[in-house]
Amino acid sequence: MFTAFLIKYAEIGVKGKNKYLFEEALAQQVKYALKRCEGEFKVTRTEGRIYVHALSDFDYEETVDNLKTVFGISGICPVIHVADEGFEKLSKVVVSYMDETYPDKNMTFKVQTRRARKNYPMDSMEINMALGEAILNAFPEIRVDVHKPDVMLHVEIREKIYIYSMEIPGPGGMPVGSNGKAMLLLSGGIDSPVAGYMIAKRGVKIDAVYFHAPPYTSDRAKQKVIDLAKQVSRYAGPVYLHIINFTDIQLYIYEKCPHEELTIIMRRYMMKIAEMIAKETGCLGLITGESIGQVASQTVQSLAVTNEVCTLPVFRPLIGFDKMEIVAVSEKIGAYETSILPYEDCCTIFVAKHPVTKPNLNVVKRHEKNLEEKIDELVKQAIDSDEVVVAKWKEDRK
Ligand code: ATP
Ligand code: MG
Repeated sequence: MFTAFLIKYAEIGVKGKNKYLFEEALAQQVKYALKRCEGEFKVTRTEGRIYVHALSDFDYEETVDNLKTVFGISGICPVIHVADEGFEKLSKVVVSYMDETYPDKNMTFKVQTRRARKNYPMDSMEINMALGEAILNAFPEIRVDVHKPDVMLHVEIREKIYIYSMEIPGPGGMPVGSNGKAMLLLSGGIDSPVAGYMIAKRGVKIDAVYFHAPPYTSDRAKQKVIDLAKQVSRYAGPVYLHIINFTDIQLYIYEKCPHEELTIIMRRYMMKIAEMIAKETGCLGLITGESIGQVASQTVQSLAVTNEVCTLPVFRPLIGFDKMEIVAVSEKIGAYETSILPYEDCCTIFVAKHPVTKPNLNVVKRHEKNLEEKIDELVKQAIDSDEVVVAKWKEDRK
């Protein structure tokens, strides 16, 4: 029965002069999400509103599910279109719409008309009254409540007449592409996909980098990270995932540095390389899944030592989250099942029994001097090994 959707957005409504850009980004993301759906659609923007019009048959559930992944949408209202064939006809359609949409009539309602086309022969108040009366006459149980109705029936008089009353919650946030791009350090764990999701939610486009250590980490571990990038791309759009061969750097650190500092030094090199790729690809920040105190390399002291190698801002959206809170988001976005697959990640192989929890920057730097001979060359080789995979949630249908 529905032939269109009204897309509601909250936050982006208040961006002053930038509003246009935000709406444009949202319309783009809506179009992108619709590419994954069956059917033809047209996306239009009028008077601070975005409409999705169906031009053919479409799968309602699939379309709503895909629209629910578009950041910036606060609500999705399924709309029916009625050709303007006189008030009698409109009134009939409205009554049958109410009948089909709300089988239980023990409720209150209010009609709210908006007359975008001013040459309609009745004004908004008259339409509200007349439609209200028609509904009251049709359903004895139903009541009007003008202050807090259970159902607000919206009628918009345009070229055609639009009717809607339901609002399906959207994911909120801001449209991806409205806030630049950042580089996500994506491992096979639970945390980093959630971190990527949270930053994408603020409108940031996501690229990703994964440090792979074959043969210590398997192809299955790599595939798992690609699958997680796909999960993130469900919300963030296509993710360019850079897969970097990190084995030689890890072995070299293992050979030259005290083992209790392996993880922290390794993390510094991951950040350094991630930043080099980020700068080359136009990313304005780095993203990690770190959370204070979760492991030895995430104490405040460790974070400070890791952070010291970066000049770009590092976004750590999970910094104050407990694991349980992170797991809840991971489950919500559909990443959890993949994240808990038991494939080794590169950190678990080279971890020391007793890693430092309070590393000292000067000491760490002194130990890194042991790497001077070969490290620049190894970093260069790692960057040259870059294999880019474009991760997409689903192949576009069109
Ligand atoms: P996650 O669940 O995201 O793997 P974690 O709890 O295992 O996190 P660490 O292994 O200490 O924590 O990693 C901290 C962060 O560093 C990760 O959230 C991720 O952003 C990044 N990271 C760790 N390992 C890798 C890797 N192999 N490739 C890319 N990024 C990584
Ligand atoms: Mg990890």
